[in-house]
Amino acid sequence: MLTHALQAVLQRLHNAAREAGRPTPGLLAVSKLQPAAAVAALAAAGQRAFGENYVQEAQGKQAELATDPLARDLQWHLIGHLQSNKAALAATLFDWVQTVDRAKLIPLLAAARPADRPSLNVLIQVNVDDEASKHGCRPEEAVALADAVAAHPTLALRGLMAIPAPLPDLQRRRDAFARMKTLFDAIAARHPSMDTLSMGMSDDFELAIAEGATLVRVGTALFGARPARR
Ligand SMILES: *Cc1c(COP(=O)(O)O)cnc(C)c1O
Repeated sequence: MLTHALQAVLQRLHNAAREAGRPTPGLLAVSKLQPAAAVAALAAAGQRAFGENYVQEAQGKQAELATDPLARDLQWHLIGHLQSNKAALAATLFDWVQTVDRAKLIPLLAAARPADRPSLNVLIQVNVDDEASKHGCRPEEAVALADAVAAHPTLALRGLMAIPAPLPDLQRRRDAFARMKTLFDAIAARHPSMDTLSMGMSDDFELAIAEGATLVRVGTALFGARPARR
């Protein structure tokens, strides 16, 4: 079942990229609220990169998978809001943190990243629709945050992430993706280490790919509907 869903999503990524004349983006499998067994099944089908929203949930799942030979060498991305008091733990559990949206987090992540591990990959989360209720920095703040991340040797500045508002008007969603691509190109011009633009989810990743996403975050289309959060 999961193997079939994975193949179908990979095919859609490939088709969307080909139609847009862009390279096929990477696939982040969003496993929040899914059991460790679902991660193991997708890992067995060949998927390596997994996204989690809650630090503690990820910690539990990683512990469950620690002895599973099929789940070795997975790449873990934090894609949920990061509280300052969880930053140190996140810096040890994850390979990527996609939700750096304020300056305060940066020294906390940098100091807690173990020196014997590769640098922690960081994306700056941008609130591209400027919604008061959402996390993410304002677009004009992203460059200063990028500069701050780049100054720390234990962090690797890799790019930007966004969760545009789920507007029913697809053209407006597409506009938000396009604004992210413009911002990404502007900041990447000063930071050549930036190679990742994370945007697009199950119901809009084709639009995101058309506008230049290099990494799409897909949960429902891979795993089916999520169980409710307990
Ligand atoms: C849950 C989540 C996703 C995946 O959403 P789907 O609609 O299930 O594909 C992607 N990105 C973030 C930040 C999420 O929280």
